[in-house]
Amino acid sequence: MYYGEIKKCDIANGPGVRVSLFVSGCTHHCKGCFNEETWSFEYGKPFTEETEEQILKLLEPSYISGLTVLGGEPMEYMNQEVLFPFLKKVKERFPEKSIWCFTGYVYEKDILHRMIPKWKYTKKMLEQIDYLVDGPFVMEKKNISLKFRGSSNQRIIDVKKTLETGEVVLWEEQ
Ligand code: SF4
Repeated sequence: MYYGEIKKCDIANGPGVRVSLFVSGCTHHCKGCFNEETWSFEYGKPFTEETEEQILKLLEPSYISGLTVLGGEPMEYMNQEVLFPFLKKVKERFPEKSIWCFTGYVYEKDILHRMIPKWKYTKKMLEQIDYLVDGPFVMEKKNISLKFRGSSNQRIIDVKKTLETGEVVLWEEQ
């Protein structure tokens, strides 16, 4: 996996002050995408053990609320292969910190019904994530007043409650 950027103090992609990892590779190609350069799976730098250590170190301070993964598309198959073990490591090391993930895929249609039955890491990766912002960016539904989302079709899903109940439960701000 490749990544384009790591933000050390991000306040735009989830609650609190977060570390954000922008992974490379995205097949959605949404019109009006804010991050077109990350569509290539080889954009940026290789994600190595050193990168993992760097992120784990950045997550240590108590003022960091958690890790956000976005892109690009974290839920592309080849990114899941690398992100699942890494997110597991993050959760084990920092159980009190939240993991947010932004995907252009739609939870029910793509993740639940297509990926989980076929792909080895999807369910396991999902189990490490606390909140999933789902759906592609839709220019016609762009709304700059929405928190942590670009367009009104996108949802912030409480993954733990959704997996527990089998119904999509949305994030409620504390
Ligand atoms: S899913 Fe995100 S990164 Fe991919 S094309 Fe759409 S807006 Fe861009």
